Amino acid sequence: MDSVEINDKRITMLKGDITTQATDAIVNAANSTLLGGGGVDGAIHRAAGPELLAECKQLKRTLLAGHAGLLPTGEAVLTRGYRLPAKYVIHTVGPIYKEDSDPEQHLQRAYENSLRVADHNRLHSIAFPSIGTGAYGCPLGWAASIALTTIHNFLQHPTTLTDVRMVLYSQHDYEVYRAVLQRITA
Ligand code: ADP
Repeated sequence: MDSVEINDKRITMLKGDITTQATDAIVNAANSTLLGGGGVDGAIHRAAGPELLAECKQLKRTLLAGHAGLLPTGEAVLTRGYRLPAKYVIHTVGPIYKEDSDPEQHLQRAYENSLRVADHNRLHSIAFPSIGTGAYGCPLGWAASIALTTIHNFLQHPTTLTDVRMVLYSQHDYEVYRAVLQRITA
């Protein structure tokens, strides 16, 4: 199953590159420095252009000044999307699986806070990558289950969001997320 409907809202699984999604927002699996990095973070910064890094640096000096300029694990902040087809980027930080004190809570909060930021900004559509399952080493099935359960629960409540997409980069990731979506909505 690659799509499920919850009271006129939809969760969709896609295989592809998140930087091509023309949603209101795409989510970046960033690191705490917000200075860019490898994986999906690097791809988003390359596609958005240097203005994205400039806005991230500004956030470090302002909103994040009280946290030594770092975005804590599980928190989320919004910037513009610049050269991306998406209007905004929501940056969040997933748990480093082997180092985190509570990876389950932190991964759940990364999805939930991203959805909250989108809702506060009255956005309708959002696309997520598989947060935490690349360089941060979270097990795929475990992360897929937390991701989809958190999104599914969020959409049970009133929200401006009607279109939530999971954009999986590999066929294997796509198949694992599809199987988990089937299991949690059965
Ligand atoms: P993390 O540090 O949170 O683990 P990574 O960027 O290393 O983040 O990996 C997260 C997931 O994003 C991985 O499954 C990786 O394959 C995937 N990914 C990498 N580039 C893209 C892209 N352009 N679009 C969507 N997903 C991507």
